[in-house]
Parts: sequence; C-alpha cells; structure tokens
Amino acid sequence: MITDQAKVICASKYFTSEQIRKLYHKGVHDFGENRVQDMLIKMEELNDLSITWHFIGHLQTNKVKMMINEIDILHTLDRPSLAEVIQKYREKPLPCFIQVNLTEEDQKSGIARENLNQFFNDIKNYDKIEIIGLMTIGKDDDPLKTEEAFQKLDELANTYHLPFRSMGMTNDYELALKHHATHLRIGRKFLEFI
Ligand SMILES: *Cc1c(COP(=O)(O)O)cnc(C)c1O
Repeated sequence: MITDQAKVICASKYFTSEQIRKLYHKGVHDFGENRVQDMLIKMEELNDLSITWHFIGHLQTNKVKMMINEIDILHTLDRPSLAEVIQKYREKPLPCFIQVNLTEEDQKSGIARENLNQFFNDIKNYDKIEIIGLMTIGKDDDPLKTEEAFQKLDELANTYHLPFRSMGMTNDYELALKHHATHLRIGRKFLEFI
C-alpha cells in the first residue's frame, strides 16, 4: 500500500509497543492512538524512537491535560468545549483536524456540516489550535454513504481553503484516495506486515 498522494498513519490500537517498534523499523513513523491511557504507556515504552503521534479517538475533556502536550496532531477536534480545554493546557499551537459528521449517524462524534461556520467562529481566538484540515469516518458496510461523505469532506475542505483531509481506513481507503484524502488512518491492514 504505497501512495505518494497521502500520508499513511498506522492506527495502532490493535498493536503492542513491540509490534509498533517492528513497524517503525520497517519505515512506518506515524502512529495514531484512540485511547489516552494506552497511548501514554506506548509513548513511554517507545520514547527512544522518533514517532509522530496522532490522536484519532474521541477525546474526553478531563483527559486533555495529561496528554495534549505529548501529541503531534489531533484528528478529532469535534466540539467547542474540547477546543476551550486544549487552549488552556496546550503550550504551543497544535495542528488539528476538525472531525465532521457527514453520515448523519447520531452516535457518531463530529461537527455537523451546517455548524462548521459557527465552530470556526467559536475557536478563532484560540492561538493554540491550528486547523490544518477536516476529518471524517465513513459508514460501516455502506460504500455509497461512505463515498458521499468523502466527497462532501473534500468539497468542504476546498470551501474553507484547508490543505488536508483525514479519511479512509482499511476497508475504504481507495474511495478516500479517489476523493483526495491526504491522511489515511489504516489499522487492520497492517496486520499483514507484522
Ligand atoms: C481503528 C481506527 C481506524 C483504523 O481502522 P481499520 O479499519 O482497522 O483500518 C481509523 N480511524 C479511527 C478513528 C479508528 O478508530
């Protein structure tokens, strides 16, 4: 899975520190974690490596303080209250993707498309938050809805003049590439390389 269009981030929730270390020595230097506690343990165990750490899971505001200065990129900025806490604890600007909910599933995190303008307005004075792009998650087992979502994300990123689009996982990365993904978050497929 080589692509020069997009950066491939290994979604490493499935992997132990030792497996991450193996992947690192095969050339994977970007890892994305979903859980704060697991990530902090892996960071500690792998602190001799130059890993770029992405946080790609739902982030609870009460966990921000303990991890926000450890990560390099946040993919899941999804509400004003989270932005507010990041602004409080982060020491230097954090590159962030805004997570957008484009599949209209209520249980899924993300800002609704019609609330994006308001969200940009809410965070405009936060100098610790640097919006670099938009992120979305496709709909499980629904390639049509997933492709619609990826196409919308691409359009929205253009509308807001944002360079990056974080979308595409093991089952839908080809659709994501078709719609100009720049950051793929790939988990299970890496099992083939371990
Ligand atoms: C686990 C996960 C991925 C990777 O999923 P796979 O289907 O294993 O490729 C991508 N993004 C997020 C937010 C995840 O939680």
